[in-house]
Amino acid sequence: MKVRLFEIFTSVEGEGILYGTKTLFVRLAGCPFTCFYCDTKESLPLDSGTEYSIDEATKLIDSNLQNQTYKVNFTGGDPLIQHQAVAQLAKHIQMKKIPTYLESSCFDIDRFNHVLPYFDIIKIEFKTKDSDFVDSEHYEKLISHTMKCLESSVNSKKTTFIKIVVSSKTQPTEFKKLIENIFEIISKENIDGFVIQPTYGISEPSLDLLLNFYDIVFPYYIDVKVVPQLHKFIGAP
Ligand code: SF4
Repeated sequence: MKVRLFEIFTSVEGEGILYGTKTLFVRLAGCPFTCFYCDTKESLPLDSGTEYSIDEATKLIDSNLQNQTYKVNFTGGDPLIQHQAVAQLAKHIQMKKIPTYLESSCFDIDRFNHVLPYFDIIKIEFKTKDSDFVDSEHYEKLISHTMKCLESSVNSKKTTFIKIVVSSKTQPTEFKKLIENIFEIISKENIDGFVIQPTYGISEPSLDLLLNFYDIVFPYYIDVKVVPQLHKFIGAP
């Protein structure tokens, strides 16, 4: 089996509930989607990065793994594109007793369930309609897969949190509908965090709009937080 890795590097986690932690990022090549705010566009082509055997990739990861690393973050692109290889690499990390972290838009429940046993922390990213992730015709299908992945992660007792990127184009009515649907299938006790992440440098939402999104989530999840991509403020990748 082969795997295409776009890059491996150590940095400070700048997103989600574990921001600020020293993290080894394993960025997989490949994502078939087209979010307008994507900040890793170079890694989207399936043939970007470098191809390795699993053995070569594990050695590369080991050689990049620094002491005092809090977790290893499998990101992309979207790691589920290469789910079989990702499962093997994450399993390798788990054997070292270092927490594994999956960052995915969860577009396929079967692929998600394949990698799930090898991950400790799951960031479920829900896309809003305005993100241009997929065309509107396929949007409902995508959300249905993401919902199933959320349910699966919660049922497997993984550390699970939700992230939603919002921009000036995000419609509060659409956002509200999405939040209602999410809390129909889970309750607040099931998740470990809920992050609203504003876009940075493109179609940035106003403070009023961010507070509007916050107010929508708050009745369901009192610990909701608006967290920008903090790594960008310290010039970290
Ligand atoms: S899913 Fe992630 S990697 Fe893919 S286009 Fe959207 S933001 Fe970029």
